[in-house]
Amino acid sequence: MTSANAPYAARDLAHVWHPCTQMKDHEQLPPIPIRCGRGAWLEDYSGRRYLDAISSWWVNLFGHANARINAAVRAQLEELEQVMLAGFTHEPVIALSEALSAIAPAGLTRCFYADNGSSAVEVAVKMSFHYWRNVGRSAKRRFLTLSNSYHGETLGALAVGNVDLYKKIYRPLLMDVITVPSPDCYARPPGESWAQHSRRKFAHMEAALAEHAHEACAVIVEPLVQCAGGMRMYDPVYLTLLREACDRHQVHLIADEIAVGFGRTGTLFACEQAGIRPDFMCLSKGLTGGYLPLSTVMTTDGVYAAFYDEYVRLNAFLHSHSFTGNPLACAAARASLAIFREDRVLEGNRALAARMGERARALEDHPHVAEVRQRGMIVAIELTANKASREPYPWAERRGLRIHRHALSRGVLLRPIDDVVYFMPPYVITPEEIDLMVEVAREGIERATCD
Ligand SMILES: *Cc1c(COP(=O)(O)O)cnc(C)c1O
Repeated sequence: MTSANAPYAARDLAHVWHPCTQMKDHEQLPPIPIRCGRGAWLEDYSGRRYLDAISSWWVNLFGHANARINAAVRAQLEELEQVMLAGFTHEPVIALSEALSAIAPAGLTRCFYADNGSSAVEVAVKMSFHYWRNVGRSAKRRFLTLSNSYHGETLGALAVGNVDLYKKIYRPLLMDVITVPSPDCYARPPGESWAQHSRRKFAHMEAALAEHAHEACAVIVEPLVQCAGGMRMYDPVYLTLLREACDRHQVHLIADEIAVGFGRTGTLFACEQAGIRPDFMCLSKGLTGGYLPLSTVMTTDGVYAAFYDEYVRLNAFLHSHSFTGNPLACAAARASLAIFREDRVLEGNRALAARMGERARALEDHPHVAEVRQRGMIVAIELTANKASREPYPWAERRGLRIHRHALSRGVLLRPIDDVVYFMPPYVITPEEIDLMVEVAREGIERATCD
């Protein structure tokens, strides 16, 4: 570690306990103190720069220190930093809710706010359960989820997720859910298309719904890409079939668009590619352009109406967080949505996505690359110990970590999930930066798979 960074790392390690980290790992690689960020780049105290190829954990859309979002937050700061949203309201939350209702799948007219993705999932789960109570269907209390799904870290969100690394130890604390095999297309047999595979896998969901609909509140899915589960992808037809089946079985559909929302999959929301409207749509991460913690659960007038009653009937949704709908976060979100509108961002991203895909696919022939897959602005390269059998490397070898370390030494922030190297860059990345990012990943893969 270079000298200018070292004092910060030492002070950090004396008191800060980091997320998603075995702290002992920092004996090898201390945390990197970041002094500033500009566009797609982060800069540490020694002046080293890192290309933020994963959007600072999938949140940043328009670069660090974006002039327009900065100005919006600054202006809001001069007016009002926070007020409780119970009994009070403010212009930023009103205007943001109007804007979201205008761009979300038609019919999602109601916005309930929280301040992070996991809390949004908790809200959707509680709201669905409570809805069925309010309409007299109190036998409905269970949730259906896909294998390999991820919905956050709080106990309810962890329960409806399915990544063992995060979930297993806490199982005794978690509600019981119905887990259905994922339509993940990495598992498709040779010769089967994504659509065929996803459609075939839907049979499991249809069977689970037929069996459990009487006791099921909702199915929760990450539309199109299971991100934390290793950027595993499936075809939109699965969502189309799921919507139809949920309607037929009278079960809610919760779309967790926390990671895939706001253009990541090529459309503003991933659900658009299936032409569906979920009953609940969870948004966070890119909602504020990656600036401030904020999340929302969007739902329908129908759900809203089931809670709208005389107070004494005690049907209200009383869930709350202190910082629900924070005005600074709402101002950042509005500025971010304005950029989407004014700069025709989704159109511009098509060229960037094509470049990323083209460069990454050059790695398909590598002897330890099992698959290169893409959905819009998300590209993943899955490594394997054996290309023919697709056997993964033993997890404890932590080959992805070697790629992470190599990339840092070359000024690129990559953070593979196990042996899946992926790119999810901010939309301000340039074609040249894409080339650098992919080249550094190629070097890292080379080094991590040579023994
Ligand atoms: C990140 C994520 C969450 C959790 O959001 P937090 O803000 O980290 O609590 C939930 N669902 C999905 C799909 C995510 O990617």
